[in-house]
Amino acid sequence: MAVRILDGKALAGELRAEVAAEVANKRALSNYVPGLGVILVGDDPASRSYVAAKQRACEAVGIYSQEILLPAAAGREEILAAVEQLNQDEQIDGVLVQLPLPDSEIEHEVIESIDPAKDVDGFHPMNVGRLVLGLPTLVPCTPNGILEMLRRSGIVLKGAHVVILGRSRIVGRPLSILLSQKGVDATVTVCHTRTRDFARYTREADIIVAAVGRPHTLSAAMVRPGAVVVDVGVNRIPDATRKTGYRLVGDVEFEEVSAVASAITPVPGGVGPMTIAMLLHNTAMAAARRREGRV
Ligand code: NAP
Repeated sequence: MAVRILDGKALAGELRAEVAAEVANKRALSNYVPGLGVILVGDDPASRSYVAAKQRACEAVGIYSQEILLPAAAGREEILAAVEQLNQDEQIDGVLVQLPLPDSEIEHEVIESIDPAKDVDGFHPMNVGRLVLGLPTLVPCTPNGILEMLRRSGIVLKGAHVVILGRSRIVGRPLSILLSQKGVDATVTVCHTRTRDFARYTREADIIVAAVGRPHTLSAAMVRPGAVVVDVGVNRIPDATRKTGYRLVGDVEFEEVSAVASAITPVPGGVGPMTIAMLLHNTAMAAARRREGRV
């Protein structure tokens, strides 16, 4: 049976159209425009291009966006002051600090300084706590994007065994919480670098999510025939045939795994576009809550 490609670009397009309609509705009926404020520290090219993509996406759906650019040498006070400026800005509903920061030591403090009601990345401890408790909250964009992609593709999660490779606070861990919550009802196994022989878990999985950040991590021999494979990894590998000198690949051996899986996400064009669409969704949701007191 031919593998089904889960087209994140197309699914994200659906979601973006829904957000655009909601934003237009708010503008017409409630007379406000949701706003996103992004803080970028330093000039890391990958971070710059992520921020630019987020701003273009905002513009396309009618969300106002504002960027605060700080030099790589910006200190703790300067970054905290920028967050506070956006926290206080009435036009801004979502505050996002592009990670990683040049000084990773202060990331926790910076995230905790974001107004939880504007925390559209869903990384603030209060929102993480609400997620764990199953309360309505701003859910981290990549895990929520994966869940939405699986739902919209009609993949059955109830009772499914999902094996997640990776336990980071932005992907693996929150995804494990989302998938195991009541109403989603998947059974989740989380693997990491201390897992002994993760292939013995992946070979039993109905759904595998690879989020490790290493190319060639998941091969065909590790996948049960008919399993669904979600590739979160974004890795740059040298490619002399490209103008940039590199190309993007995921964590999965795409060709060989496609021969055994029933469905698979491509890289690029899989999870990435869903992440950005979820950021727009979270910004619209944060705006509705703040301005209309609506959950
Ligand atoms: P991370 O913080 O570096 O975490 C990687 C996780 O993978 C860690 O839990 C690590 O285990 C585990 N791991 C690493 N090598 C492993 C191995 N050989 N076997 C089993 N587990 C292993 O990375 P991240 O931020 O979660 O990102 C993961 C990947 O997803 C990256 O390529 C990133 O660029 C990509 N990403 C994509 C999107 C998107 O929208 N498409 C969004 C976010 C991230 P330990 O905890 O034991 O170290």
